[in-house]
Amino acid sequence: MNASLDILPLSSWINTDGKPLVIAGPCSAETEEQMVESAVQIKNEGYAHVIRAGVWKPRTRPGSFEGMGEAALPWLQTVKKETGMPVAIEVANPNHIELALKYGVDILWVGARTTVNPFNVQELADALKGVDVPLLVKNPVNPDLQLWIGALERFNRAGVKKLGAIHRGFSNAQENKFRNSPMWPIAIELKTLFPQLPIIGDPSHMAGKRALLFELTQRAMDLNYDGLIIESHRDPDKAWSDAAQQLTPVALGEMLHELHVRKKSY
Ligand code: PEP
Ligand code: MN
Repeated sequence: MNASLDILPLSSWINTDGKPLVIAGPCSAETEEQMVESAVQIKNEGYAHVIRAGVWKPRTRPGSFEGMGEAALPWLQTVKKETGMPVAIEVANPNHIELALKYGVDILWVGARTTVNPFNVQELADALKGVDVPLLVKNPVNPDLQLWIGALERFNRAGVKKLGAIHRGFSNAQENKFRNSPMWPIAIELKTLFPQLPIIGDPSHMAGKRALLFELTQRAMDLNYDGLIIESHRDPDKAWSDAAQQLTPVALGEMLHELHVRKKSY
C-alpha cells in the first residue's frame, strides 16, 4: 500500500547542532534524587539533548516494579529546572498523555507493547488531536513493519507532525544473543519508504546487556540513524528495572566518544 507521512524535520523541534539526537536517562524514574543525580551527570558529560525516564512501566509479568506513576512527574520538572534539558517519557493511555502534558513533559514516546494494538494507538492518537508535542513511536514487539507504519499513520492523521520512529528490536521466540533482535532490514525498509521520518536507535532494549551496546550503537550510526535513545543510570547495577543494560553517564560518554558518528544536517 502506498503511503506518505506529512511530518516536520527533527531540526524544527530540537536543536542538535547537526549531530545525531541523543536521548539518555534511566529506564525508570525511581526517586527524585536518583532522577536528578542521573540527569545532572548526563548533562555534565555534554553529549545528550534530552533526558528520558519511564514513569509507567509495562512489565511482562506482574509483581515487578511498575513505575512510580504520577508521583514521578514533579521530579521531572525538577530535572528540567536543574539541567535546562527537555524530558521524555512513555505514554500508553490517554490519561498518561493528559498527565504528561499537565506536568510539562516535552517529548512523548509510545512503547513497543502499545504499538502492536491499533485500538490502543487510535485512542492515543485521538488524545493528541490539537496537541503540539513531539512523539516517537517504538516498533511493535513483533517484526511487523505494517503495524509500525500503521501506528505512525494513525498519529500523523490525528495531526502529529513532530513524529519519529524508535527502532528497539523485536522479541525472540528462542534464546538469542540479543534481548530483542534488531532485524535491521525492517527499519531500513521503513527509512526507505519514509525518507523524511527520523529514526532513533534504541540499542539498550536490543542489547539487554551492556556488553552488546557498542556494536549496536555503531551499527545504528553506520546506517545513518537520526539519533539514539540509551538508558543511563547513576548506579546501573542497583536500577529497579533493566539493570543489566544501563550504563553510568560517564561510561555512556566514553562509549559515544568511541563511535564513528557521521555528522549530519537534517
Ligand atoms: C523502555 O523504554 O524502558 C521500554 C519499556 O521500552 P520498550 O517499549 O522498547 O520495551
Ligand atoms: Mn527499559
